[in-house]
Amino acid sequence: MALKPEPLIFERSVPGRRAYRLPAPTAAGETLLPEEHRRQDAPPLPEVAELDVVRHFTRLSQLNFSVDTQFYPLGSCTMKYNPKLNERIASWSRFAQMHPMQPAPTVQGFLRLLDELEQALCRITGMAAFTLQPAAGAQGELTGLKIIRAHHRLKRKPRSTILIPDSAHGTNPASAALSGFRVVELTSGANGRLDLEELRAKLSDDVAAVMLTNPNTLGLFERDIAAIAQLVHSRGALVYMDGANMNALLGIVRPGDMGVDLLQLNLHKTFSTPHGGGGPGAGPVGVTKALEDFLPVPRVRKAGTRFRWEERSTRSIGRVHGFYGNTGVLVRAYVYIRTLGREGLQRVSRAALINANYLKARLSKTFPVPFDQHCLHEFVASLKPLKASGVTAWDVAKRLLDYGFYAPTVYFPLVVDEAFMIEPTETESKETLDAFADALLRIADEARTRPELVTHAPQQMPVARLDEVKAAREPDLRWTPAGAPDPHPLVTAP
Ligand SMILES: *Cc1c(COP(=O)(O)O)cnc(C)c1O
Repeated sequence: MALKPEPLIFERSVPGRRAYRLPAPTAAGETLLPEEHRRQDAPPLPEVAELDVVRHFTRLSQLNFSVDTQFYPLGSCTMKYNPKLNERIASWSRFAQMHPMQPAPTVQGFLRLLDELEQALCRITGMAAFTLQPAAGAQGELTGLKIIRAHHRLKRKPRSTILIPDSAHGTNPASAALSGFRVVELTSGANGRLDLEELRAKLSDDVAAVMLTNPNTLGLFERDIAAIAQLVHSRGALVYMDGANMNALLGIVRPGDMGVDLLQLNLHKTFSTPHGGGGPGAGPVGVTKALEDFLPVPRVRKAGTRFRWEERSTRSIGRVHGFYGNTGVLVRAYVYIRTLGREGLQRVSRAALINANYLKARLSKTFPVPFDQHCLHEFVASLKPLKASGVTAWDVAKRLLDYGFYAPTVYFPLVVDEAFMIEPTETESKETLDAFADALLRIADEARTRPELVTHAPQQMPVARLDEVKAAREPDLRWTPAGAPDPHPLVTAP
């Protein structure tokens, strides 16, 4: 469908074009609205000086923790620094002012960027093709599961079960259930990794795929992955890899070489695009050659030196997002990959691994790490020893805020009691890691000597312990003039 572009701005008269005539403004508000619809009195808007507004919002923005202000070791979330260069380029007007319905000949440069990003992700992962459409890791999982279903349907052997290890991220079973599959849990082995015997016992002709995370959520590499893939394939099932932990593998190993059939990447984690507060993100899905035809449409296709959209494909699972996904995120990820290059990306993962192992070495005497091996980009400590003083992982997470650190992920994965999941990422300095370890060790002392300091934390924050769901769903954003009593006090007594 050819759309006739409308001018965005009403112009008085442009030679050779239709002229839009607007009535000349007279006194304020007397231009377009008929008399009977105009209000008689000024609206009761608050009168606030610009300076007060600036101070209010500056103060509000500083109440938040962010990667730009504090260390943010939130395990599994890969809260690395997001280089400002990514933002600068994504905000170029040629990207920012593009319209999603522009015909392909007018957006050749952008299609080339998408194509090159797909190629880069293929080279990084060893997969044959990618879709950039999914807007989050979880949506990538859903896309992958639809592809798995389509694959078995084409073989005329529909299968209804997905096997998922008990250490998996909650989105894995949720996506599988949402796609209409039956979820069967695989109990982790004593070493925290997937147990081959357990897998063998639960594999049947009804298993459509095994969905595993590598490195898994304990930060451990599934060393048996080749044997796992071989076993799964021998029963006609597929291997789906949750690739949200790709930050550990860049330039070191490729999922495509491990026998993985399809995976999602989280660009908003590994490839440094900002995230938090629900998005936007991007969860591209990569597949082997055998599964390429099932990828969502439209896809970018190159013919000679020109790019075009391919809208039709008989086997495609269809569209999973409007237009082509969160393209602003894709531009940022592209800039990140192009800036670092092959060696830079490999250094990212190496530094992420070293940082995580350094913190583990400093902390594991005080906070035991249940499956203690060399970890990859993150590790999970147990805060169970503090329970004797009545202190929980939740309390320590709150106390860390008083020390100026965002809290690690707590109570996940579920296979560790009082779990404290720490992911430092590669962008933190040794000084920051040491300051964080010092703070945690001091809190362990406090838990022994003055536990009420920890159980009533945070003491220094503008808000203490909230009903977190309510706070997220019904944020109180009302403005209160400085000095006036606050009708909605933020601070709640512990
Ligand atoms: C973050 C994460 C997901 C989900 O990704 P979203 O973008 O939040 O939907 C899935 N699996 C793992 C291991 C993750 O860390």
